[in-house]
Amino acid sequence: MNSSMKLIVISILTTLTLSYAIAGNGPGAGNGSGQGTSGHSSGNSTTSACPSFSTTTPLTAEEVASLRFMREEEKLARDVYQALAVKWQVQVFDNIMSSEQTHMDQLKCVFDAYQLPDSALAEPGQFNDAKLQGLYSDLTTRGMTSLSEALRVGALIEEVDIKDLNQALTVIQQPEMRVIYQNLLEGSYNHLRGFVQNLEQQGESYTAQILSHPEVTAILTGGDTAIPVFDLDSSRLLISEMQLRKQGSIVPSETYQVELHLNPDGKTLEIINLKRLQ
Ligand code: MN
Ligand code: MN
Repeated sequence: MNSSMKLIVISILTTLTLSYAIAGNGPGAGNGSGQGTSGHSSGNSTTSACPSFSTTTPLTAEEVASLRFMREEEKLARDVYQALAVKWQVQVFDNIMSSEQTHMDQLKCVFDAYQLPDSALAEPGQFNDAKLQGLYSDLTTRGMTSLSEALRVGALIEEVDIKDLNQALTVIQQPEMRVIYQNLLEGSYNHLRGFVQNLEQQGESYTAQILSHPEVTAILTGGDTAIPVFDLDSSRLLISEMQLRKQGSIVPSETYQVELHLNPDGKTLEIINLKRLQ
């Protein structure tokens, strides 16, 4: 096992909020040597204990809308992976499906804490959100064509998830909700790495589908994208999320992605891309 693989395994194992089953999502998960993968579905239905929420301030309309959407988007991931697991009999889909169930459970905790009606339907493959319903149909169809396409569908869902979670984190203020969203984001980073590793085991390479190439590269090479990654091959540094502090306070809704390039002097960095995340 090389050092980057070790990093990935360590990062997966230390992401405590993820289901134990996700340990099998690391390198080797697709070749039958996945570890800790027993009983993938048994632990799901028993919702893990919810954190306590400070519910004195009601959620904003934006927070409620995001919560309703993300709960269904996590369900989209779970339901698509379930269909692909049945079709392809590859461990990675079972493992990540279990993780998506825990993500759904974590979001349900917020609904329960604020006594909001659940936005997700019980039946697999059924969605209230028309866009997600369409995606379910398109992605399951695409994922049936070949195992490689199925793995790319998985990676696409994770990229969409990462984009939507990062976007949501620019408007969500409720502290416990932010922690849950950060956990989901870490999960999606792990899942994207898992699908791409399985694709590479098929002898194929992966190209970013939704996010920028530098961002996907940073996720695939970094054990933890909260730490900016300097890519020695391209002499670039990507900071995937940067906030602004003004007079001691973080400026809400002002989140940027910054890409820097090492100048030929080898000493100074130059900003080559500054993008507002919205
Ligand atoms: Mn998820
Ligand atoms: Mn995921």
